[in-house]
Amino acid sequence: MAILEGINPATGEKLDSVEEIEIQAIPLLMEKGQQAFKSWSRLTTKERLHYLRNLKELMVRDIEKLAQVIADDTGKPPTESLVADIMPTLDAMVHIISHAEKTLQPKKVKTPLLLIGKKSYVEYMPRGLVLVISPWNYPLQLALVPVVSALVSGNTVILKPSEVTPLVGKSIEELFKHAGFPNDVVQVAHGGKEVGAHLTEAKPDYIFFTGSVRTGKIIQKVAAEHLIPTTLELGGKDPFIVFADANLKRAAKGAVWAAFTNSGQVCMSAERVFVERKIYNQFTELLKEETEKLVQGNDNTADIGSMTYKVQVDIVKRQVKDALDRGATLTCGIHPDKWSHPMFIKPTILTDIPKDAEIVQEETFGPILPLIPFDNEEEVIVFANDTEYGLNASVWTSDKMKARRVASQLISGAVVINDAIVSVANHHLPFGGTKHSGIGRYHGEEGLKIFCHEKAIVVDSGKRNKEIQWYPYEGKYEDFLQLFKSYFGKKKDWLHFMKRYLRLLKK
Ligand code: ADP
Repeated sequence: MAILEGINPATGEKLDSVEEIEIQAIPLLMEKGQQAFKSWSRLTTKERLHYLRNLKELMVRDIEKLAQVIADDTGKPPTESLVADIMPTLDAMVHIISHAEKTLQPKKVKTPLLLIGKKSYVEYMPRGLVLVISPWNYPLQLALVPVVSALVSGNTVILKPSEVTPLVGKSIEELFKHAGFPNDVVQVAHGGKEVGAHLTEAKPDYIFFTGSVRTGKIIQKVAAEHLIPTTLELGGKDPFIVFADANLKRAAKGAVWAAFTNSGQVCMSAERVFVERKIYNQFTELLKEETEKLVQGNDNTADIGSMTYKVQVDIVKRQVKDALDRGATLTCGIHPDKWSHPMFIKPTILTDIPKDAEIVQEETFGPILPLIPFDNEEEVIVFANDTEYGLNASVWTSDKMKARRVASQLISGAVVINDAIVSVANHHLPFGGTKHSGIGRYHGEEGLKIFCHEKAIVVDSGKRNKEIQWYPYEGKYEDFLQLFKSYFGKKKDWLHFMKRYLRLLKK
């Protein structure tokens, strides 16, 4: 049996380990999830929320332990685990606990007059067995939020956590067990790409994937083959736009945080910082000052932890080297040839970057801040939209109208004005990307409804013997013609409408 070894990337220390699921065991896992669906889906939302409350209380009780597991598994400081991984997860749960019943209850809708005598409503039916595949950068939040969203509407779930952070996956498995969820309502399948691929092929009823564009495309292909609906939450190359009239001190502190938080391993981190030319030099100095203050390490005295995944370090290294080889200037940081630690990358600022450098086009996912000057509003909108991605963006200016004007023109799933990233922390807002950043939205009402079939129901009392549009058609043409003219005409003619309607009823 294969074992996933937990290793602290910041220290190299060996942690606990987790047993990988055998590929042959996947059909049984599917069967168990489908069986569990039969009883779980029959509970009321209120009954299911009772389990979710237990889960939330358990997480609050063990919050410090959880923060440490995340920190050890990812190399980030515990403060970052707490603020950026645990807090948004708990807040999403609180939101779901207070809104799920209302969101998922049947909704009465209007019925047009042409369907006289009928009533209509929408019902939310769970889809079945949902597969959630999650990544390593926020291993708790990006696994648990889709999992609990799928559960409350009555789905059962198989979670395939990232093999890069197996101990957070193990903690999630234990949390569900201790919260008393019925057997097999949530099953955690530990393993790597192969396990993910086999689970996708096993035809779950829905796939919720968070990860790279490359894997997202593979999953979408398999899903298309079996007509499985999906949500794909993929990468970003987010623009961070600073106009000369912004509060520059705030913008500089904001840019440094938005580019370097979680060591830049954030799908919504600032990956391209556009600065109005008038203040370019001044702003560069402010950024340098702020960046030089940052402390690296893996305890609570540190601002920036290590990278989590060695493969990602190599991608970042390649991109920085490519930019420098093409003539970019290393304004802050260390040349990649001199990086001395395998997993810590010094926060880096690059300037004078040629437009065709990889770092301007490809997602970096590391603590690198590329600075690009612009001359005016029109130009920066073109620059910002000139990417295959479109997840988040931020606009910094004291001119409210300009901020809104620019925000409206950015092709992006979200825009934050005079701050960055935080849109993800408001669970009332939808979350998701445009272009290669993904397909679909979650969070908010939408985040619960995606896991349901929206079922349209029309009710007739069944007392009348027939309907006007039923057979026979003979002799009805003229009456229908006049009925529709009186109904759809510029001014509704109710008298004629009723006359024709009653005539049709008699035929
Ligand atoms: P990264 O390389 O940054 O970890 P991935 O997109 O490869 O991003 O990984 C995100 C998640 O997708 C992980 O849980 C991983 O195991 C899983 N995964 C990778 N390849 C596949 C695949 N072909 N099918 C299903 N899941 C996969």
